[in-house]
Amino acid sequence: MSKTLCEWKRKDIESKLSQLADIVSPSHFICKKCARSASDKKYLCKGTKLK
Ligand SMILES: [Zn+2]
Repeated sequence: MSKTLCEWKRKDIESKLSQLADIVSPSHFICKKCARSASDKKYLCKGTKLK
């Protein structure tokens, strides 16, 4: 299993940029704790659906 986007470090972001693009777009969910957005709740630790 891959970790949630919330757990990504700067290094992860740099090395997995194309994967990141797939995860954040389209951004239907946002993390209430970390203010990150993603296409699916499973990528976030406190994911909530955007209206
Ligand atoms: Zn989070």
